[in-house]
Amino acid sequence: CGIVGAVSQQDIVPILLEGLKRLEYRGYDSCGVAVHQDGQLRRARSTSRVAELQALASEDRVASGTGIAHTRWATHGAPAVHNAHPHFSHGTGEAAHSGPGRIALVHNGIIENYAELRAQLQQRGYVFHSQTDTEVIAHLVDWHYQGDLLEAVQATVPHLKGAFAIAVFCRDEPHRVVGAREGSPLVLGVGREQHAGAHFLASDAMALAGVTDQIVYLEDGDVVDLQLGRCWISHQDAASGRFEAVQREVRT
Ligand code: GLU
Repeated sequence: CGIVGAVSQQDIVPILLEGLKRLEYRGYDSCGVAVHQDGQLRRARSTSRVAELQALASEDRVASGTGIAHTRWATHGAPAVHNAHPHFSHGTGEAAHSGPGRIALVHNGIIENYAELRAQLQQRGYVFHSQTDTEVIAHLVDWHYQGDLLEAVQATVPHLKGAFAIAVFCRDEPHRVVGAREGSPLVLGVGREQHAGAHFLASDAMALAGVTDQIVYLEDGDVVDLQLGRCWISHQDAASGRFEAVQREVRT
């Protein structure tokens, strides 16, 4: 139901969790956070309040400059920890059983063709760990990943039918978060002052109110690449299906 993401030189876990608290008004049944830490994907998830997630995250010393967080309003799969976002991809074949893969993802919305995608991905050897429609996106990004997360997300988006806002990062690219939207809200926040060089994503500008007032409202078809000191928005042309660079106004 709510998304927050960030790339910064500082630990962004407090910002992500504060952002989730600011999105609590939307309602949710579970919540979670994932970060890039010590070269790995790490996460904490809870079917309780964000305050409980905060306690879990600090107990497990979850800290990083790169991460994503989510409050979930379940549409597919019961409200349970294993269905809570962030979802991880899980390698194929043998690798599927040896812990998390390389993609971490949060999603707002509904993927209407998830059953078809799930069957296709299972045939390719992907193992599913949840009953959500969302998990197919994580595996699909992994399937398309060839060393460039932006390209992998751009290759994934055209296969998704339904409504979505997503935020994704990859184990192999420590300082990068990619976002995309189609039918669900997503904004980009540009860090300033003590957050100079940092970039943020959220489903609502209010989630970033304590962090930045420099907001870009993304449009349907946008895919945004967040890095340290650099941010790039591309947009899928409806006719050609190709992604082209676009400029969007920064509002304060
Ligand atoms: N459809 C997804 C799920 O049930 C996302 C729901 C949401 O927007 O929170 O997990």
